[in-house]
Amino acid sequence: MKLRYLPLLALALPACTSNSTNTTAGPATTTLADARFDRFKNQFILDLWKQNPDYASSQGFHKYDSLLVIPDAAQRQREAAFVAQNLGVLGRFSLDSLSANNQIDYHLLTNELRSQRWYADTLKSWQWNPASYNLGASVGDLLNGRHYPLGRRLRNISDKIAGAQAFYQAAQATISQPTREHLALAVQQNQGGLAVFGPALADSVRKSTLSATEKQLLTQRIAGAQAAVQGYIGFLNQQLASAKAFRSFRIGKALFDRKFALDIQSRYSADEVLALAQKHKADLLHDMGKRAARLFPKYCAGRPMPKDTLALIRQVIDQLALKHAPRDGFVDAVKRQIPTLTKFVNDHDLLAQDPSKPLVVRETPGYMRGSGAGASVSAPGPYDTKANTYYNVEPLPATWTAAQAESYLREYNDYTLQILNIHEAIPGHYTQLVYANRSPSLVKSIFGNGAMIEGWAVYSERLMLEAGYGNNSDEIWLLWDKWNMRSTLNAVVDNLIQTQNATEASVVALLTGVGFQEEAEARNKWHRATLSQVQLSSYFTGYTEIVALRDEIKQREGSKFNLKKFNEQFLSYGSAPVRYIRELMLRR
Ligand code: ZN
Ligand code: ZN
Repeated sequence: MKLRYLPLLALALPACTSNSTNTTAGPATTTLADARFDRFKNQFILDLWKQNPDYASSQGFHKYDSLLVIPDAAQRQREAAFVAQNLGVLGRFSLDSLSANNQIDYHLLTNELRSQRWYADTLKSWQWNPASYNLGASVGDLLNGRHYPLGRRLRNISDKIAGAQAFYQAAQATISQPTREHLALAVQQNQGGLAVFGPALADSVRKSTLSATEKQLLTQRIAGAQAAVQGYIGFLNQQLASAKAFRSFRIGKALFDRKFALDIQSRYSADEVLALAQKHKADLLHDMGKRAARLFPKYCAGRPMPKDTLALIRQVIDQLALKHAPRDGFVDAVKRQIPTLTKFVNDHDLLAQDPSKPLVVRETPGYMRGSGAGASVSAPGPYDTKANTYYNVEPLPATWTAAQAESYLREYNDYTLQILNIHEAIPGHYTQLVYANRSPSLVKSIFGNGAMIEGWAVYSERLMLEAGYGNNSDEIWLLWDKWNMRSTLNAVVDNLIQTQNATEASVVALLTGVGFQEEAEARNKWHRATLSQVQLSSYFTGYTEIVALRDEIKQREGSKFNLKKFNEQFLSYGSAPVRYIRELMLRR
């Protein structure tokens, strides 16, 4: 699953007020303080939705679907006032008077508001990332959403896009010294967004129950939106072609360190994580060398064993990758594995599972395809916890050549596919989300910590293999090492690219060398690392923190340590940052 930390864009609505300014500290009992804090949280979230209608829709809150926020200076001022006011209210609660669950929520909300302020005032990506502005993307979500019947969705879209011209005019006025990379991304994504205003939308309008007048108005507005997006793309292309100096996509060490602290909320600093990742890289490589040497005679019989460890590992991996699903049987291969995983978790008592919330494996719906993610989990949002959880698996595109398909199938060979299923489904993302939905906190659902979520999925792979999944064979461990090397190197290159001017050539050499990646994958990673910062570090950081916490508790409890209890306890706090889960678990 690709979970992106969603910094709230600097968008706000007029007349956004909060009724919770009268809160004072010093309640008589814990219960009273918690009740007051709960009221504050609820009001805060409602206010937040009014400010961020797109974000609200994405979380399943559809009251403000028809609203369009114009990203101008006045909106940014309103947003700043919102942040200042709510930080003030938060500051009047005393942390110690709150329950453990509310303490985590307090931390999450404080961090969220500080992040908003820092993104707006210091990082200022709203100035230099023109891809922040894409009306097509939000209209596409409204159109494809199932929450309202088509007629109502179209009326919401009609109201929303009435301001398309003003929206893009404000965006243009806002952009100042963008990066070349984000300009190119904005062109590409707005071209994709333009497609949303194409024939499929016109077709929906025709088929709908809207009156003739409504249809006419909407058709006019669609034409207006098309023109506005085209105008924006023209402006972006002009910027790209201009001789002006672009901003570097590298945010530099000071901004990276702060962004790391705000996005990841780890107890480690960015520097510490880089050092840990470099060390883990060496450990993985050492383990791979040992295992490859043992496997070489079995899989490469008759060949001379390479002296170079990297060559040895590569030759063995190449042989293991030959075992893979057939091109037209990829989705089936995934489907077949799910019951095996469920049974293994039960048989080995790794954690309790909830049979009333089955995972539905399906082919990825068309509108979600093409992102390059072969598999993902679609979890119900916090307002819709009873809906199905889907495991989306993308069949290989029919347009792929035999060679492309073969390369992909080798990447997701029989061993790696099992690791992927553990990560995405059981006991990875799906299992974690089932537990998270039991924790009755909207705040944790909305501001869930990406590093904890990804960290758990990576930890769950190791949990399964340590319990003997895959018969503790060198084959599955070697391919897990390679898989784990990817998230480890993600953290390394993220930091080196953003803070130390690492070049594309050096990054590709690292990823194709000790990372054993194909060149195409390595170049894609470079590209992604120029467009995002910190997110690539989240997998390794979360994983490392969870393993360290488990070791810490193991040490403390000695022979009393119970793995199932640890796993369940860890998951019981919702998707909170590992550092706060740690505080609460160690306090028990
Ligand atoms: Zn994941
Ligand atoms: Zn093959």
